Amino acid sequence: MGPKLKLHTQILLGMAAGIFVGLLLGEKAVMVAPLGKIFISLLKMLIMPLILASIVMGIVSIGDVKNLGRIGGKTLVYYLGTTFTATFIGLVMVNLLHPGAGMIQGGGTGTTLTRSTPPSVLSVLMEMVPSNIFKALAEDKVLPTIFFSILLGSALATTKDKSGPLISLFDALNEVMMKLTEWIMALAPLGVFALMATTVGKMGLSVFKPLALYMLTVLAGLGVHAFLVLPSLLRFLGLFSPWTFFKAMLSALATAFSTASSAATLPVTMECLEKNAKVPNEVVSFVVPLGATVNMDGTALYEAVAAIFIAQAYGITLTLPQQLTVSLTATLASIGAAAIPGAGLVTMVIVLKAVNLPLEGIGMILAVDRILDMCRTTVNVWGDACGSAVIARMEKMLPTEETIKEA
Ligand code: ASP
Repeated sequence: MGPKLKLHTQILLGMAAGIFVGLLLGEKAVMVAPLGKIFISLLKMLIMPLILASIVMGIVSIGDVKNLGRIGGKTLVYYLGTTFTATFIGLVMVNLLHPGAGMIQGGGTGTTLTRSTPPSVLSVLMEMVPSNIFKALAEDKVLPTIFFSILLGSALATTKDKSGPLISLFDALNEVMMKLTEWIMALAPLGVFALMATTVGKMGLSVFKPLALYMLTVLAGLGVHAFLVLPSLLRFLGLFSPWTFFKAMLSALATAFSTASSAATLPVTMECLEKNAKVPNEVVSFVVPLGATVNMDGTALYEAVAAIFIAQAYGITLTLPQQLTVSLTATLASIGAAAIPGAGLVTMVIVLKAVNLPLEGIGMILAVDRILDMCRTTVNVWGDACGSAVIARMEKMLPTEETIKEA
């Protein structure tokens, strides 16, 4: 018997086999759908306990509230900066390629700039504070759980003498959740196979044709962000080889692609970062769950492109300030999007409303949303991963590359 294939190779093979079976069986491929659903449930089952245990332990090891504030500040600046850059790349691409031209749906009359209805900062902040942590855990509310875990971790760190047993408990919980992640990841090739077969089977190839240029525009934008911008940050701020890092993250990226959910991928992202890329738990535990929830570079870029595409299709020309509004609201809308499949399409309403674009325009792009969702989710996860490496380097916590064994 030859050597066992690496997990990420198995996952990629599962993916390819899924595409093949999906194309071969068409709609009939839904018979493997339950397998994919079970795989996603297994991953989701891990999320809340993992976030709780991992953040608590991360904060206990960061120890000092001052350190935490500094890491938190850098993380937010990094996330906002990269997300806004992504929308900008999207705008450049969509203005260059004009995918909406010639798709006129009745012609528009131009539009006036009105300020939008993004969720108010105050309401977002208020929702972050849980009134009942058990309810937040039971309802998969990530931000309130992060908030509680940070407080709990800080309290444990300042009462170490007395709270030792509780710290050990969270430490143990953290360890076993990582172990469970490893076990469930062993099933990933099968889960990914089922997800790909079902998606491809349902979608077929015919839907792509009329929207090919639009898809190409989104993909070109995502490509520039994922293969140029983020690797440059990794290289120059993270002082890390993008290729080595990419290989370390492959399992997470493939999971993101096939599940189209940053949240479901979270356990795998954390596992790859800590085990393969050796980014320390202090940084991963805090930066990555937060990133999965609020840092969605791919979603922001996609929303910017989609909004302008709709404008072009309706024959509406947006002025420069209006395009800037699209950039800003796409950034906000991506922060507000849940880390689940299709969420970006929902929050896009915010962007369309901001510049008075017809909401029915969303109907035009629905057919190809899933495939673009898979791509933007992969970029979302890649963005979080690169962010954690850059922050870890800034905090002088990232080991040299020689110590990183390949995944
Ligand atoms: N599916 C994406 C994610 O989980 C969100 C989106 O729909 O853009 O990251």
